[in-house]
Amino acid sequence: MAEIIQPGQKNGQKSEKLLEVRNLCKYYPLRKGVFSRVSEQVKAVDGVSFDIRRRETLGLVGESGCGKTTVGRTILRLLEPTAGDVFFDGTPVFSLPGGQLRRIRKQMQIIFQDPYGSLNPRMTVGGIVMEGMIAHGLYSKADRVEKAQELLRRVGLDPEHFYRYPHEFSGGQRQRIGIARALSVEPQFIVCDEPVSALDVSIQAQIINLLADLKKELSLSYLFIAHDLSVVEHISDRVAVMYLGKIVEQAPGEELFGNPLHPYTQALLAAVPSAEPEENSREKKKRRTLPGDVPSPLHPPAGCPFHTRCPEVMDVCRTEMPPTIEKGAGHQVACHLYTEG
Ligand code: SF4
Repeated sequence: MAEIIQPGQKNGQKSEKLLEVRNLCKYYPLRKGVFSRVSEQVKAVDGVSFDIRRRETLGLVGESGCGKTTVGRTILRLLEPTAGDVFFDGTPVFSLPGGQLRRIRKQMQIIFQDPYGSLNPRMTVGGIVMEGMIAHGLYSKADRVEKAQELLRRVGLDPEHFYRYPHEFSGGQRQRIGIARALSVEPQFIVCDEPVSALDVSIQAQIINLLADLKKELSLSYLFIAHDLSVVEHISDRVAVMYLGKIVEQAPGEELFGNPLHPYTQALLAAVPSAEPEENSREKKKRRTLPGDVPSPLHPPAGCPFHTRCPEVMDVCRTEMPPTIEKGAGHQVACHLYTEG
């Protein structure tokens, strides 16, 4: 009988792709009337596709409300998807029953944005870090304590912090506790959901460097979510840019920062402060500011969702959704400026 080759496997070998996201959609129904009929849908995520290879970091960037956090949480099935598929190491995550989902969740962890709200104030740091180990039945009691203290040391805390409570720590230290918690079950993949957005600028670089070191030491893969391109620049191997629930551009990091194609990516890059004198800075001609606000995902514009703010808008943009096209190795963009013909 012919062998069924799942996504994530090639000729029986493990594929380089650890995570495959295909046409992911997450809609929120709005109900009206006495019968609570669905009247409209908010399309928070609408047809998102990307891959993350083993030991790779994909930066996912866009303004607040673009759907990037929803993508991260839906991949982990913390939110149920409306449509689409996610394959983790070849396993279809969305069709897994409870027990198997729990097992795969051990491999897929999350670090939350808010280091204050994401830690239970009534638990000690040790209890927080050991919670996942207990849930997954890992190690003996004594080994769990030893392992948790070792993890605290690894993320730059003191093993003695094991006995303290979250309120005794600064924002940066709490985020280190959140990182230790995510690592406690030895995952392969971590969704880093704006892990430095709530931190002082001086602390942000320390946490990003820590995540980069851990990735290397532990062969991790990250989906690194941020609203600021400068945050993902140094940690991402590839970057995907989201606008109104869709990915509008995706490329290897150096390519995206050196040759941004989509007008939205160019505007995001223009917002990144540069240390260089203006005349030498990153392609001055591409520096633009964005007029207006992000439209409501409840009533997205027809055609290209970015057309209400785009400095390059053409007639076709107002009526036709641009297809995603390949512009060089791994560089994809959805914009009529690059559509041939
Ligand atoms: Fe701008 Fe048109 Fe490209 Fe959309 S498709 S980004 S409106 S040029």
